[in-house]
Amino acid sequence: MSRSATLFENAQQHIPGGVNSPVRAFAGVGGTPLFFKHAEGAYVVDEDDKRYVDYIGSWGPMILGHGHPEVLDAVRNQLQHGLSYGAPTALEVEMADLVSQLVPSMEMLRMVSSGTEATMSAIRLARGYTGRDSIIKFEGCYHGHSDSLLVKAGSGALTLGVPSSPGVPAAFAQHTLTLPYNDLAAIEQCLKEKGEEIACIIIEPVAGNMNCIPPQEGFHQGLRKLCDEHGVVLIFDEVMTGFRVSLGGAQGHYGITPDLSTFGKVIGGGMPVGCFGGKKEIMSHIAPLGPVYQAGTLSGNPLAMAAGLATLKLVSQPGFHDKLDSYAKRLLAGLQERADAAGIPFTTTQVGGMFGLFFTDNKDIRNFEDAVACDVERFKKFFHLMLDGGVYLAPSAFEAGFVSAAMGETELQITLDAAEKAFKALA
Ligand code: PMP
Repeated sequence: MSRSATLFENAQQHIPGGVNSPVRAFAGVGGTPLFFKHAEGAYVVDEDDKRYVDYIGSWGPMILGHGHPEVLDAVRNQLQHGLSYGAPTALEVEMADLVSQLVPSMEMLRMVSSGTEATMSAIRLARGYTGRDSIIKFEGCYHGHSDSLLVKAGSGALTLGVPSSPGVPAAFAQHTLTLPYNDLAAIEQCLKEKGEEIACIIIEPVAGNMNCIPPQEGFHQGLRKLCDEHGVVLIFDEVMTGFRVSLGGAQGHYGITPDLSTFGKVIGGGMPVGCFGGKKEIMSHIAPLGPVYQAGTLSGNPLAMAAGLATLKLVSQPGFHDKLDSYAKRLLAGLQERADAAGIPFTTTQVGGMFGLFFTDNKDIRNFEDAVACDVERFKKFFHLMLDGGVYLAPSAFEAGFVSAAMGETELQITLDAAEKAFKALA
């Protein structure tokens, strides 16, 4: 029995499902999850000493690759000065200045400890600011696990939301409307009927939690215009896309100015960090400046700020995102070529350092419905074949993949060799 399998068996005694976050259990692909003990550069190493090219990167934060020496030094340096003070620090000021410089819509911002906290707080703020209770989200988008956001669509496009998890009161879910991604007409119709009740629209500007689905041309421009017309706060959830699809995030890439934005993952460089912010006029409603309450014992934690700042400085270097983009493009072109050669219906999507793999011949994937119509069984087999070939992809057909700056020719070759074998085996 492998060490991962033994650990997984033991883990299940005192940890629900053996994991501290559900996707890690491999429920989406079957088999035993790998337990890791080390990570370096482009690779993770499991408890059985097998190395894998890592296309998860801790679900996004490790954009530099693992254990970048400058990030480790920054953390080590802070370590000698203490782990947490629960009081303001110069590091937080530096972080706020840097983020608002890199993402100009972030006129004011607050640090939190996870993406979930960031989106939950941004939504409370939008509600407090507008005095409206309802929110709109999009089918297939994930914004963390706060009650308002664990909601799926009711039976018709304009019906009230229903909880997608037990424990979420139906009365909460009723304030969350869920619309299809990339469908401006649906948003327009909804706002026409209910615009005055809607506090905010929250969106993943490139969807990364239903595989990777980019916005259609003009979608965000239309969304911005509709929000303005109806006095609705537009929230870009850039927890995944921030500092990844471009230095200025998806908003920089598409040239859109949201009212509020949320960040996580890259901004913490691998430490538990989130952030929300935006227009000063709206952010001034947050306590202690204003009446909307929000707080956190470890918010702005100095170790996390040190790791995040070092990471943001490194991703700000000229050409950083071009290199990520070019690796991702070569990766996907190589995969497509090998899938085509094996006669496997296959489509890819990509924006900067994030990508999606779809087992389908649909070349125009727009929304959740398109994502679920793909051949998930084939993905599961592909996932395990790639794992055998030393490549660690997200263990679900409904997650985006991430490249890191530590990837180069060697990793590309390992990945494409594994994929060639995998596609042939699937044919
Ligand atoms: N928003 C998006 C777009 C995410 O992808 C995630 C997590 N994958 C979250 C929010 C929640 O972040 P966290 O897991 O740090 O709470």
